Amino acid sequence: MASFGMVELIGRKRDGEELSPGELGWIVEQYTADSMPDYQMSSFLMAVVLNGMTAAELGSWTQAMLHSGEVVNLDHLAAPRIDKHSTGGVGDKVSIPLAPLVAACGVAVPMISGRGLGWTGGTLDKLETIPGFRTALDPSEFVRIVERHGLVMAGQSETMVPADRRIYALRDVSGTVPSIHLISSSIMSKKLAEGIDALILDVKVGSGAFMKDVKQARILAETMVGIGASHGTEVVALLTDMNQPLGRAVGNANEVRESIDVLRGGGPSDVVEITYRLAEEMLLTGGIASDRADARARLTEAIDSGAALQKFRDVIIAQGGNAAVLDDVSLLPAAANEHVVVAPEAGHITQVDALVVGVASVRLGAGRQTKDDVIDPAVGFELLAKRGARVAPGDPLVRIAYNRQQQLESALELLTSAWVIGDEAPGEIPLVLGEVR
Ligand code: URA
Repeated sequence: MASFGMVELIGRKRDGEELSPGELGWIVEQYTADSMPDYQMSSFLMAVVLNGMTAAELGSWTQAMLHSGEVVNLDHLAAPRIDKHSTGGVGDKVSIPLAPLVAACGVAVPMISGRGLGWTGGTLDKLETIPGFRTALDPSEFVRIVERHGLVMAGQSETMVPADRRIYALRDVSGTVPSIHLISSSIMSKKLAEGIDALILDVKVGSGAFMKDVKQARILAETMVGIGASHGTEVVALLTDMNQPLGRAVGNANEVRESIDVLRGGGPSDVVEITYRLAEEMLLTGGIASDRADARARLTEAIDSGAALQKFRDVIIAQGGNAAVLDDVSLLPAAANEHVVVAPEAGHITQVDALVVGVASVRLGAGRQTKDDVIDPAVGFELLAKRGARVAPGDPLVRIAYNRQQQLESALELLTSAWVIGDEAPGEIPLVLGEVR
């Protein structure tokens, strides 16, 4: 491959010029090979955040990331191969109950997920709170597990989308996440590497999402639908609300606990509803259900019969984890201390700002502020009063599980401002705000 000067390429992107496929491919290759320092790549990524990419640039960048590692072939599987991905939210643990649920209904789910990004949580960080659970799989093991169980839940690795693995980790700590081009290339390169027929996206909208309004979310969804179409992969996107955190648990181990509740037929209604809506799309797209009612009936049966929980058990064991956590959640990491924040006055909760809760969770240690940070799997929040609840003075709003006093204080500085209490009950915000297909 030809060689270029990175300082010159950064400058051209900064000045709004279009880079060629060769130049973009070279940047991805050099960074993936550890031949480019983080400071040059973060500077380039910031230029992309500020100036965007042309359609041609986005296509070349996504291709370079997709082919930075092996692309899995699952054509030999009889089952429809469909995955789901979220653009990122606070308390969004939906992939964890959803993947075994749809796999129990006959969809093959070869899932490559990411870690926490910015203030949003990541499926890998959550799954790794299960003692022994391995998310770093090589392509042959990835294929073997999905062949055997119809489900595998892994991360980007040195052999599968290594470019996304590195760029993703850098974006997390360099303020370069909120870009339609960087998000769509990150998601689509991972997903196209999995050998899927179709992809269902949950494009989050609102304060705790990277897309703050429906208009931007729709553009992001259309961009990913377009990348899918150019690769012959059907993509369906639901736009869903992320103004307040999803469910009651925010953190890593506590989100796994809530996911297990969903697989046992419980869990908060918003998490259950989003899980079912996305799962219905997967069953319909895969031709497994004839209509929405049929899809819902199959999903309910997979939960009621225990088949979905059993599927999760099988995959935890296949990936080296201790499946006893499903019967005894006290085997998951737990924090040493608790602190409860209470309502200062009476009224209706009109807002629980997902962004504030997400940033506070990072300060508590549930996310990273530098690339070398090690997350604390045990810390997190249990939301005890959400939007629409009526509270009296002293009623609990949120229980904080923490290990270090200084992290608690840092999280508290922010957290109390997340709950807004007013005189009037707030209007309903629908969970699903739109769709793109
Ligand atoms: N999910 C991803 O995989 N990448 C992003 O950039 C955002 C969400």
